[in-house]
Amino acid sequence: MSEMHAFRDAWSWVALCVLLSLGIASCQQRRVEHATYEMVQTMDRDHTKKDVLEFPDTVEPIQKSEEEWKELLGEFRYYVMRRKGTERAFTGQYWNHHADGWYVCAACGLPLFSSVDKFDSGTGWPSFTRPVREDYVGTERDTSYGMVRTEIHCARCGGHLGHVFEDGPPPTGLRYCVNSISLRFVPRERRQKKQGP
Ligand SMILES: [Zn+2]
Repeated sequence: MSEMHAFRDAWSWVALCVLLSLGIASCQQRRVEHATYEMVQTMDRDHTKKDVLEFPDTVEPIQKSEEEWKELLGEFRYYVMRRKGTERAFTGQYWNHHADGWYVCAACGLPLFSSVDKFDSGTGWPSFTRPVREDYVGTERDTSYGMVRTEIHCARCGGHLGHVFEDGPPPTGLRYCVNSISLRFVPRERRQKKQGP
């Protein structure tokens, strides 16, 4: 009987250690993500000051090497935008963001979505019923993870944004579900040069 107890105690210790190390790992992961978002916010604040919104008539593709993208975007943004990663729900900057303005591509500055078309989808990711202009956002069939989805990306630089689903509210019935990290917000009063929609 006491052997049985010792055996069970040993397993309890193993289980406890595993749980503790998992907890520590997840805290560390959260700290890393937190640091990344702070860095991105600071970087974006500096960048947004210089933003000049332009709504080009035709979209001229931008191409860069993987090394250049890595340098430009930083680790996490590169992972989402060039490797088609996904930020965790309810962690990004914009899922609960209600200011009036434009959401531009974080990689190339093309205006992609307007706050006018933003709605609360309850998913933890910023969601829109439509892009600023149809030709500013490209789509591609995505069959990863055993699902058939429609991937969306910036039509100018190819940066991955998220997916579009057919369960959105009126007027389009579409839900453009976007990673916050793929976007940068520009308040409407900062609109300069060419007037957009
Ligand atoms: Zn872009």
